[in-house]
Amino acid sequence: MLQRVHDGKTRTILVAGGAGFVGSHLCDALLLRGDRVICVDSFLTGSRTNVRPLENHPRFRLIEEDVCRLSDIDEPVHQIYNLACAASPPFYQADPVHTMMTCVTGTGNLLALAERHKASFLLASTSEVYGDPEEHPQREDYRGNVSCTGPRACYDEGKRAAEALCFDMLRAGRADARVVRIFNTYGPRMQPNDGRIISNLLVQALSGNPLTIYGSGEQTRSFCFVTDLVEGLMALMDIDPNPGVPVNLGNPGEFTINELATMIRAIVPSSSEIVFRPLPQDDPLRRRPDIGRAKDLLGWEPKVPLSQGLQQTADYFASVLARPDLRKAP
Ligand code: NAD
Ligand code: UDP
Repeated sequence: MLQRVHDGKTRTILVAGGAGFVGSHLCDALLLRGDRVICVDSFLTGSRTNVRPLENHPRFRLIEEDVCRLSDIDEPVHQIYNLACAASPPFYQADPVHTMMTCVTGTGNLLALAERHKASFLLASTSEVYGDPEEHPQREDYRGNVSCTGPRACYDEGKRAAEALCFDMLRAGRADARVVRIFNTYGPRMQPNDGRIISNLLVQALSGNPLTIYGSGEQTRSFCFVTDLVEGLMALMDIDPNPGVPVNLGNPGEFTINELATMIRAIVPSSSEIVFRPLPQDDPLRRRPDIGRAKDLLGWEPKVPLSQGLQQTADYFASVLARPDLRKAP
């Protein structure tokens, strides 16, 4: 196992997409550790509510900006996390050209920033780079089965291009770039109207509306709780030396969507019926991470079982639904 480095000095860390679901938890964890945090976010899918508790924190700075337009930062930066990108299929497909540009131009701008500031850089890539996988579970050396012309391409191919940029900058010695491939992650601060499966089913059950299952519900996903993911992101950013390879982060527990719906109905007792809707185009049939590399390199593995994480997320959505002022306008 490689060694983690943290010398105890206050560092300035830029989190692009820091007002989003995962990004806001990362900002919390970095501030808690004693770092200074600059959050750059356009509020495309993120929310001011997510970072409002941090706005008066002496080590927190918020910059409202699109990473496609970001040129420089007027203070030294030591690490850059790039989480800026809509992650939910309905949202990243709403303006697919902007999604692709966010992945490519946005990542390019942030890598240029990393080069100028000699900052380490971490890209939040995705299991979507494996597309509809023909190998199962997915290891990092699997090259994927992605459509470059379908409706998910703006995201899948955008992230693949962003990964290529990272490894080119790394090989050229221009940036200390690292790449995490994140598998489906859930938890408090997802938007109730986010469109992803766990937020949809929990909000539907809590509201007494029908639970929507796309296709037969026999497709699988593996769900990681957000605090586990954030620990993994920080571990890869802080490891020295940079391992120079992409690392899967996710929970290997694999569930069909039907199994997930059954668990959610047990956690949120409701009279909601299940309704089946057409499966979206190019929807992957199954997905499960092989996390052997994360275990070996980082000593990381997820700790929060799905039932426990779902309960915490259900409690969060119950509080949001009770207070409509906390909801982001669609
Ligand atoms: P999210 O939509 O909640 O967060 C994304 C954040 O980026 C939002 O705050 C949004 O406003 C901001 N953003 C989007 N485009 C931007 C732009 N051009 N300029 C500046 N800010 C911009 O999504 P999330 O679930 O928190 O995902 C965070 C990152 O992790 C994303 O890059 C996503 O691709 C990646 N990821 C997430 C998951 C998951 O299951 N949550 C899985 C795989 C990968
Ligand atoms: N899904 C579903 N009902 C919903 C939302 C999603 O059945 O209300 C399905 C979706 O088709 C996919 C799985 O749940 O098979 C996970 O979808 P999500 O959008 O959360 O993530 P992704 O497809 O990006 O893994």
